[in-house]
Amino acid sequence: MVDSLRTLGIVAHIDAGKTTLTERILFETGSRRFPGEVDEGTAAMDWMRLEQERGISIAAASTRVSWRGTRLQIVDTPGHVDFTAEVARCLRILDSVVVVVDAVRGVESQTQTVWRQADQWRCARLVFVNKMDRPGADFAATLRSLADTFSCRPVPITIPLFDEAGAFAGLGEPIHGTVEWFAGAIPDLEQQLLKIQMDHARDRLVEACAESDDEILADFVVGRSVADDRLVRGLRRACGAGVLVPVLAGAALLGRGVDLLLDAICDFLPSPRDRDRTGLEAAFPSADPMAPLLALVFKIEHEGDEVRSHLRVFRGVLRRGMPLQCARSGAPVEVSELWVMHASSHESVEAAGPGEIVVIPSCPSLRTGDTVHQGPADTLPLPMPEFPEPVVAAVFETVDLASRSRVERALAELLADDPTLRVGQDLESGLPLVTGMGELHLEIVAERVHERTGTRVRVGPPRVAQRVSVWREARGAATVVDHGLDATAHAEITIQPLQLLEGIEVHDELDGRGSSRPEVRKLVTDLAVEGGAFDSAPVGIRLTVHAAVGEGKGAGVALLQQALLIAMQKAVGGAGLRRLEPAVDVLVQCPVASTSVVLDDLALRGAVVRQVSSGQMGSKIQARGALRAFLGYATRLRSLTKGRGEAFLAPAGLLDCADDAEPAVPTQN
Ligand code: GDP
Ligand code: MG
Repeated sequence: MVDSLRTLGIVAHIDAGKTTLTERILFETGSRRFPGEVDEGTAAMDWMRLEQERGISIAAASTRVSWRGTRLQIVDTPGHVDFTAEVARCLRILDSVVVVVDAVRGVESQTQTVWRQADQWRCARLVFVNKMDRPGADFAATLRSLADTFSCRPVPITIPLFDEAGAFAGLGEPIHGTVEWFAGAIPDLEQQLLKIQMDHARDRLVEACAESDDEILADFVVGRSVADDRLVRGLRRACGAGVLVPVLAGAALLGRGVDLLLDAICDFLPSPRDRDRTGLEAAFPSADPMAPLLALVFKIEHEGDEVRSHLRVFRGVLRRGMPLQCARSGAPVEVSELWVMHASSHESVEAAGPGEIVVIPSCPSLRTGDTVHQGPADTLPLPMPEFPEPVVAAVFETVDLASRSRVERALAELLADDPTLRVGQDLESGLPLVTGMGELHLEIVAERVHERTGTRVRVGPPRVAQRVSVWREARGAATVVDHGLDATAHAEITIQPLQLLEGIEVHDELDGRGSSRPEVRKLVTDLAVEGGAFDSAPVGIRLTVHAAVGEGKGAGVALLQQALLIAMQKAVGGAGLRRLEPAVDVLVQCPVASTSVVLDDLALRGAVVRQVSSGQMGSKIQARGALRAFLGYATRLRSLTKGRGEAFLAPAGLLDCADDAEPAVPTQN
């Protein structure tokens, strides 16, 4: 069973054709009677109404199909950068990915991001070069850009063929030497030529495999022919180990090359048993059905009144009614039902074995990243990807108080589903302040709130969430006296900048007098993170507590907290507050004629241009600037370029706020 399972994600830059390809796969495998179309809003995988209206994928959808006796679990993922966390958590539980690349546009920014994420979790890869039917499609150039961008070894396992007029007219498969000519019989004239082309392509495959396969090398050296199944096995091993990346050509919209892709998925991608693993998962035979159950919750989803927890089984068999535990909380997990999803609909099942993706409905205590297990309580949790901190905030305005509480409830549910969402309160208005990965993310959240509650919210002007750090080391001390209670508290704290602008560290040098050390560290952490010591989230600081004592009968935690807060504020005052804001890397693709207006506009936004290149496909401009200066940029760029320019933004860490230079160190005397 395990050997005939493939778990793959379809990943790509937005608009490369992921959803279209997934729809075609559903059609070819007989799971759907007609292929859904993104442009018509009939794609089964874009089942959220919002996705159908906007023609983009937001939530990853999973489904199962079978092809030639192999079961495929397919996850279609969103391409927009605001939703990379959704992609990251899916890659965590996939064995492999099919990377879709637009044959006209080549490798794009988001392709690079997902490629790196796939590296992180050691997913095996196939590349599908899509849209070969479009004018300007260039298979050879795409192969070159794959090799250059990723330093990988792409090997074509299908060859696009063109007719006299230059139209995409057929596909060749060199391993078995078959050719499909879309318009019926292959023209006589072509036969001979095709044979040469296919033989040549097969030789190149053998040569590529010979580099990592001694048996094939031995045949290759003496010029002995390599049997088809031997070549398939060699490629499968090289693909699983990431030595080679098999590349296919096609046009998903027309259903060209999809059957060959399905064959390649079965032939070359690993089963849960053969995949290359590291760390904790390598420590046990992960695909063993007899071992105690271990499964990872990779996604929580609220749908109507229901909560669905999506899990992947790593080892053992998950059965309905089985007693389980959550590794984080130690709490029991009740599996009263088990579902296999087919996009938005589901099928109840009795059990799920290693590698399978299933849903446990109605188990509200589970969270994204939870490990669920059977047996020993000391089971280590499986690792999950770290999610980036959200950076763009906006107030969600509502008409009255009643609708506000409905909105707050809906936001709380969305919060559980989405690890890159934060909900707080705007200090001025008291309204919910929602922070997400970008403007599109916030808009989608607002629309989902509307869907759930029937209440429209107005998303206020977006603002960028600032961060703070300090410039240098300083120490602060404070003594607070409560005359009424006849009590005193004394605190002393040092603050230091860390090398990296990430996280905060809290240490103590206490001698055990007074409050317990973990308790003091917790008080200090809370004061720093949300207790008013800073006006924005602090990063890259180290706090050391030297003293924290209360004296007198009435000296309680509140008094100590007050002393700690004042000591910290004094330390921060001495260290100098360093204001930071999120930066973005911007990639603009536009017609060559628009290059100079785009560059002028980038300069006005204070961005630093790093590279400009112009070619047949237009200009590519790479720049870095403050995220604040790029809110609403997509709309502005469209008007600058008469609708023909596109911008891709990716988070690029933090930079100092422009009007906040390091102040001179006060002279001490
Ligand atoms: P996604 O964002 O990666 O999911 O891309 P979609 O599947 O939504 O496709 C984006 C656009 O490309 C849609 O307008 C599709 O109709 C179109 N498209 C997808 N595949 C092909 C193809 O093979 N040929 C052509 N000409 N257009 C395609
Ligand atoms: Mg899509």
